[in-house]
Amino acid sequence: MVLTRFPRAPLTEGPTPIRSLDRLSTHLGAELNGVRLFVKRDDVGPVGLGGNKLRKLEFLLGQALADRADTVITVGALQSNHARLTAAAAARMGLACELFLTRSVPRDDADYTGNGNRLLQDLFGARIHLLPGEADSLAEAEARADMLRSQGRRVCVFPSGGSSPLGCLGYAACALEILEQAGNLGLSFARIVVPNGSSGTHAGLAAGLAAAGRDPVLAQSYTVLAPEAEARATTLAKARDTLALIGGGLTLADDSIRVDGAHRGPGYGVPTEGMREAVRLMARTEGLLLDPVYSGKAFAGLLHDVRTGTYAWGETVLFVMTGGVPGLFAYRQDFAEV
Ligand SMILES: *Cc1c(COP(=O)(O)O)cnc(C)c1O
Repeated sequence: MVLTRFPRAPLTEGPTPIRSLDRLSTHLGAELNGVRLFVKRDDVGPVGLGGNKLRKLEFLLGQALADRADTVITVGALQSNHARLTAAAAARMGLACELFLTRSVPRDDADYTGNGNRLLQDLFGARIHLLPGEADSLAEAEARADMLRSQGRRVCVFPSGGSSPLGCLGYAACALEILEQAGNLGLSFARIVVPNGSSGTHAGLAAGLAAAGRDPVLAQSYTVLAPEAEARATTLAKARDTLALIGGGLTLADDSIRVDGAHRGPGYGVPTEGMREAVRLMARTEGLLLDPVYSGKAFAGLLHDVRTGTYAWGETVLFVMTGGVPGLFAYRQDFAEV
């Protein structure tokens, strides 16, 4: 797979570590059903506190810089990690950044509206446009881009989660990185597990696996945003578009994408008991931080599946930690002990 023809902005520093969850595994004991659990630390990165959006932004901002853009605009929820990392990466690359943020999560406490990612978006110098929950933020972003262009600015608009086919290439590259690391570690992962929001992480991994001649169904996700069938259809479409962008004439079968919708709870950004248990368990046994919106729910799903015997004895599962830690400060109330 040749990705070198796509320009990349330097926002990551080499492969993120893969390591086993020894203390969590000891804690789970018989509940593990013989599964070997590993994590990939995509929550660690050199810009803006890190997270999965950096891999997408490498390609998105790489192209924006090649097009001599001076401004980037993107969209997201009030506590969007993607918006925070776009603001940070734009600052790093010397571009102006504007964010169209929607009140799509039913919360209005001070932590949610002012702390976590919202605080950081301001610190990274982004210009913020706040919209009601039902607003078409991408249309508003495009209208603003047209206005700025009429003033002579060179503007790039990134979609929600940065999950255009170009952005998804970040996770196609990650699939290759995982295969190479697994080879070096002498491991063969039976499953690579990720959260699914705007579907680009799963889609990129599936496309990358297919391009590398591996079974795309190795990647699997837990949706935290769209209902299961919709998330699956979106992921398949994005994986196909990404594979087409990579080139080589490969295709993806209809059954190559597995998405589980059982751990989303009442809706996007709404905490679940499983999420709280997963976040606490990882923090207390491993000293690692999941987030309340994405990785906490996905890891809750993985724990559930491990405990109920979905995996064969001895199978090796890789969970990709995707970041989102600032969200913990926005959801402070949900983790308070008293
Ligand atoms: C955006 C995000 C995800 C989901 O990635 P998608 O590519 O949008 O599906 C997962 N975890 C965190 C922390 C995120 O910010």
